[in-house]
Amino acid sequence: MKVLLNNRSLLESLRPFNDLGFVPTMGGIHKGHLSLINKSNKLCKKTIVSIFVNPKQFNNKKDLKSYPQNIKKDLNILKKSKKIDFVYLPKFNDIYENKNKSKIKLSKKDKILCAKFRKGHFEGVLDVMYKLTEIINPQKIFMGEKDFQQLYLVKKLLERKYKTKVIPCKTIRDKNGVALSSRNFLLNKYNLNVAANIYKKLVNIKRNIKNKNNILNFLISQKKELKNKYKIKIDYLELRNIKNLKPSKTTNNSRLFIAYYLNNVRLIDNV
Ligand code: AMP
Repeated sequence: MKVLLNNRSLLESLRPFNDLGFVPTMGGIHKGHLSLINKSNKLCKKTIVSIFVNPKQFNNKKDLKSYPQNIKKDLNILKKSKKIDFVYLPKFNDIYENKNKSKIKLSKKDKILCAKFRKGHFEGVLDVMYKLTEIINPQKIFMGEKDFQQLYLVKKLLERKYKTKVIPCKTIRDKNGVALSSRNFLLNKYNLNVAANIYKKLVNIKRNIKNKNNILNFLISQKKELKNKYKIKIDYLELRNIKNLKPSKTTNNSRLFIAYYLNNVRLIDNV
């Protein structure tokens, strides 16, 4: 596993390879990331992982400051996996120097779910993903369904611009059903227990939706119930079609999306 600290060494090292799988991360490596890496390892000759906490996608300074970062630990885990050929650890200037200021604008129909509650977030994500794609030029990018809206937007917009294919990967959960996330490192046992209960409730709500005439009203009441029971703030609880993310009236091809706060940590999930 070769660690690449700047663009020059990256370009030199990657030049000979034309079947490259890329797993972009912000570090805080966990088994969710490793599942993406495994898939890349299976489908591509070489795998490159990046660790870059992209300040442009944080709409909240406190969130950026508290984001779990431990490069040494991450590198140890990645090395042990024996599945990675390159790790790219760019500095801010490697990504953003000499590049035109980003003009990314989301369309009105995309300003839903997290895009509605985290202003500028996906513009920052798309910006860094375009730049990483230009620098690395991978054949495939592996992204998790845990961040479904991110996967949806990056796949839709990046594949319009580049030849690279974006490959969706299933959400990896802990034994209690909690979706693995770097942000879980900021939660204590009690919070993780609440997250497990919320996951169970989501699965239950989705099962019960089938029998409801008015899904919107049902979701409003379920959101209220969750809010009161666990004393949490919920940004949204919505059923949407997975092909176009439009509000859905049936569970066919649909997922239930949630964003909520535990201990000031914003968590998202979909079932
Ligand atoms: P992050 O480091 O949180 O930006 O995540 C990097 C990539 O890993 C993204 O494509 C995420 O969707 C994916 N990812 C994060 N958590 C999980 C998980 N629990 N299961 C599968 N993929 C995940």
